[in-house]
Amino acid sequence: MRFFDSHCHIEDERAYGRDQKEVIARAQDAGVRCMMVVGITLERSRAAIALSEAHPGLFASVGVHPHDSGSCNGSIISALTTLARRTKVRAWGECGLDFNRMHAPMDVQEKWLEAQVDAALALKLPLIFHERDSRGRLLDMLRSISPSGLSGVVHCFSGTLEEMKGYLDLGLHIGITGILTHKQRGEELRSMVRMLPDDGILIETDAPYLTPSPERNHHKRNEPAFVPSVLKTLAPIRKTPEKELAEIVFHNTCELFRVRPEEIP
Ligand SMILES: [Zn+2]
Ligand SMILES: [Zn+2]
Repeated sequence: MRFFDSHCHIEDERAYGRDQKEVIARAQDAGVRCMMVVGITLERSRAAIALSEAHPGLFASVGVHPHDSGSCNGSIISALTTLARRTKVRAWGECGLDFNRMHAPMDVQEKWLEAQVDAALALKLPLIFHERDSRGRLLDMLRSISPSGLSGVVHCFSGTLEEMKGYLDLGLHIGITGILTHKQRGEELRSMVRMLPDDGILIETDAPYLTPSPERNHHKRNEPAFVPSVLKTLAPIRKTPEKELAEIVFHNTCELFRVRPEEIP
């Protein structure tokens, strides 16, 4: 089976500074042929690109996380726009709204989300959205901004069934993390993933966070090698053989991020 970790932060020096190469090798040994290394600030976007350019099968995105939107400005957006033209950059994000931790005021988060959607649309790049507790606001904004040409994924989906349907109607994908494998926290998500269409699903680790249950006993830190656990939990829920589902999800991810067959190691 082959897997695509559609969202990870393995460029993070603090989490992977000591064993980044081994982390990538372990992923490849586990069948994780491709990984999307997601930027959260200008610096981290640069690091994501550098890492993706050093390893086949790795791709990068550029963006400013809602937590960091308080320090965003026009020159950061233009620097990211320049970086976004590099070959290994396949998406813009993660950007979005996080009204759970509120590291930045709502209006500031919304302002830089809008600016980033505009930038991505101009570059014809798919978007990676982060949403937490926006109570429908992200969906409302995406509906009103400029839905034409919008493509992307709502990563680490944690919304309501209504929101899920809304995102799908906009042509967006839904990113499923290891939360699916967590006994209590994943209960609601497990009931909702039944309703997803095959072509709307992506899987991800969001590493170093959200380690799936089977690995959680031994590893505090998540890594892309653990993304098969998400797929293995998803397959019986959807009553689809693992192998078949793995191939569907791999294909979805390659299509969204425009990864060509010759780019897959
Ligand atoms: Zn996120
Ligand atoms: Zn993330």
